[in-house]
Amino acid sequence: MVDCVFCKIIRGEIPSSPVYQDDMVVAFPDIHPKARVHILIVPREHIASIADLNQERASLLIRLIDAANRLAREEGIAGSGYRLVTNVGPDSGQEVQHLHWHLLGGDRLGGL
Ligand code: AMP
Repeated sequence: MVDCVFCKIIRGEIPSSPVYQDDMVVAFPDIHPKARVHILIVPREHIASIADLNQERASLLIRLIDAANRLAREEGIAGSGYRLVTNVGPDSGQEVQHLHWHLLGGDRLGGL
C-alpha cells in the first residue's frame, strides 16, 4: 500500500530499527512508547486489521503471536507479564490502517 506508514517502514522508506523480522512478520519499537517496552508487531502483507483475518490466514496469526511471545522473552518481560493489544476501527482509536499488535510491558500497566 503506497501511503501506509507501516508499509513504508517495511520497505525501508521510513527509518526504524526492527527488533525482529522474518518472511511474514516485522517488529519495531513504537515511536511514542506507552510503556518501557512497546513494540509493534506487523505482517509484511498489508491487511487493515484483525477484522480482515479469517481461517485461511490462521498461520499468519500464529506467526504474529509467536513473534510477540519471542520478543517478550527477549525483552525480559515474559515473567513479569505483558499485554498484546490490537485496535480495530475508529472507536478503538486505530491510527494506522495496517494490522499490528502492540506488545506492552516492563511497567505496571493500567487496567482496561
Ligand atoms: P494504533 O492507534 O493502534 O493504530 O497504533 C498506531 C501506533 O503506531 C501508535 O502507537 C503510533 O505511536 C505508532 N507509530 C506511528 N508512526 C510510527 C512510526 N513511524 N514508527 C513507529 N511507530 C509509529
